[in-house]
Amino acid sequence: MKDNYDVIVVGAGPAGSVAAKTAAKKGLSVLLIEKRQEIGDPVRCAEGVSKEALKKHIAPDPRWICSDMKGSKIFSPDGTCIQMAEEIAGGEVGYVLERKVFDRVLAYESAKAGAEVMVKTRATGLIIENGYVCGIKAMHLGHEYEIRSKIVIGADGIESKVGRWAGIDTSLKPSDMETCVQYLMSGVNVDKEYCQFYLGRKIAPCGYLWIFPKGDNMANVGIGILGSESGPKRAVDYLNEFVKEKLPDASIIEIDYGGVPVSGSIDRTISNGLMLIGDAARQSDPVTGGGIINAMDAGQMAGEVAYNAILANDVSTKMLQEYENKWRSTIGKAIDNGLIVKDTFVKFTDEELNSLAHSLKDVNFNKMGLTELLYALFKANKKLLWDLRVLFKNVVKNELDL
Ligand SMILES: Cc1cc2nc3c(=O)[nH]c(=O)nc-3n(C[C@H](O)[C@H](O)[C@H](O)COP(=O)(O)OP(=O)(O)OC[C@H]3O[C@@H](n4cnc5c(N)ncnc54)[C@H](O)[C@@H]3O)c2cc1C
Repeated sequence: MKDNYDVIVVGAGPAGSVAAKTAAKKGLSVLLIEKRQEIGDPVRCAEGVSKEALKKHIAPDPRWICSDMKGSKIFSPDGTCIQMAEEIAGGEVGYVLERKVFDRVLAYESAKAGAEVMVKTRATGLIIENGYVCGIKAMHLGHEYEIRSKIVIGADGIESKVGRWAGIDTSLKPSDMETCVQYLMSGVNVDKEYCQFYLGRKIAPCGYLWIFPKGDNMANVGIGILGSESGPKRAVDYLNEFVKEKLPDASIIEIDYGGVPVSGSIDRTISNGLMLIGDAARQSDPVTGGGIINAMDAGQMAGEVAYNAILANDVSTKMLQEYENKWRSTIGKAIDNGLIVKDTFVKFTDEELNSLAHSLKDVNFNKMGLTELLYALFKANKKLLWDLRVLFKNVVKNELDL
């Protein structure tokens, strides 16, 4: 480890590793630090990802692809099933990954590009001088270090502290976060080619329950409920009820707990000498909680902007605004749409969800985009007309703004 780099990236999840790789490939000196001793472990993810979106970053590799999905099956509270093809099923349906390998490969790619990777190294604070972030304080194997850099990229996930240390408000209310618990289970006999989603207040209030097949009768079986819905009955209690009823013969191989930000875009993700990316910047999809692709996209943008800023010898917020503009005009639009959809759908009762599912049962989802989907809902549900009209108008307006 040196005591000075062009860029320090805090956190070796998908966001951090892609940022480090992008910056290193451009010729910058980069340090990527990870507090855990093993990158990618424990997994806090259902590991679903859109094929096309992923291929923009990395060629598919059987080492980290567990299964290849045809699409998704969404079950309403009364069990009505809606089937969607992979191409339109959203950012979490396509491949089911093995993130313990995937995250490691991404970090390895950044090392191959020239970044220095250090595990068991925790950022404990920022060095801030004259209003500029110019490095980090870190703890590695019991020793404290001060490491300086021109730019720090905060990729430290949902528990992010980097933003807060720089004075950026990344706080999340309970209603801005899905509380999740997931079992990796064996002996799960479900359709192996479809990711399954279960909706309903009694199943997963203001969230959903999922089964993502991983091959060989293994699957990620998990649940996310809005933090504000977590009371005496916790997410794990809902999950246990479901498992007891639907998967009585399956065994739990691993348990993971985690949170997903579903707040929508925050006001600011940069300060002098600092950019936030991925879950640290609250860039996950407010509807599904999916964040792998957005994290990788943001990582790439931040790596490129870091290069431009360092080349121009100007790491002020004015210069880093290029990153803010880039992500808001791309993934930010989808996040804003997602927030509108989430805020509408969390208000629906089980009866309303059933009614929506009944009206969509016979729709061909192979060629349908979000706008057409909303139009079908709009036509079929007179009772829900008003909420859906507002939703439809807002989403279409955002799509046209793109
Ligand atoms: C239960 C669950 C299921 C999910 N399912 C999906 C899904 O199917 N598809 C999908 O797209 N998304 C899913 N997500 C969301 C997805 O996991 C995240 O959006 C994604 O991992 C974000 O990547 P990231 O790099 O921003 O953060 P992370 O992957 O969280 O990486 C952050 C890294 O920073 C490290 N770190 C934190 N603090 C420090 C520090 N002080 N110093 C050094 N290192 C630090 C952490 O150890 C971690 O390795 C799910 C999330 C959960 C909780």
